[in-house]
Amino acid sequence: MSQLDDRNSTTMTTRLNEGCGPLDLPKRLITVRRAISGHIVFTTSFGIEDQAIAHAIFTEGLEIDVVTFDTARLFAETLEVWADTERRYGRQIRGLSPNRESVESLVGRDGVYGFRRSIEARLACCALRKVEPLGRALAGASAWICGLRADQSPERAQTSYACFDPRHRVVKVNPLFDWTRGRVVAFVHDHGVPYNALHDRGFLSIGCAPCTRAVGRGEPERTGRWWWEQEEKTECGCHAGHPAWRPNPAQ
Ligand code: SF4
Repeated sequence: MSQLDDRNSTTMTTRLNEGCGPLDLPKRLITVRRAISGHIVFTTSFGIEDQAIAHAIFTEGLEIDVVTFDTARLFAETLEVWADTERRYGRQIRGLSPNRESVESLVGRDGVYGFRRSIEARLACCALRKVEPLGRALAGASAWICGLRADQSPERAQTSYACFDPRHRVVKVNPLFDWTRGRVVAFVHDHGVPYNALHDRGFLSIGCAPCTRAVGRGEPERTGRWWWEQEEKTECGCHAGHPAWRPNPAQ
């Protein structure tokens, strides 16, 4: 069960938002850990923002559960940076796999690349490989830390530092919400943080391999995600309202 009720959450998010401005990344995370009791979860996809946050969590020795979604569709380069990160910091990153029966049922129904047929099919795939594991990761948690930045896309423009996530009933904290990509890249280089080699090949935002491509110079950061869809469909469902996928009972 979540440690915070609605009133406590509102007070907490107000306090965190008011105090975050002058703090650097490690101090933001230290403040969050001190302010919020109970289980705190950081979900990483090993993108460059997440690597900066992981560095701060690990070097400060913060008691924050670091979790990733092992969708079974990740790039080999992503698995490499996962292993490099564990080696560098001596901390384990917990991988959550999708439910096997659900995957078999969906692939049996839609085909191995069925997610390219329609937005609904794609959301169904993201629902079982990411959204359902996210629910498991956050069960009983008080807070959820993410690597969202407000200038990544129009959908993320309203990203704040701390807010209440009513779906998971946790305080959601985006410690890089006001950072630019350039600032994140500089942080990672300055601190020698391991990062995904695909970033050097034009992949700005990295998700599952079949759903991510490199972007051209000047293209928006998230253009390479689900590029065959309309521009406004650049989220997997973890950060917005999302229909739960259920296995087809006929399969
Ligand atoms: S990003 Fe693609 S492969 Fe990964 S869960 Fe979503 S639709 Fe499926």
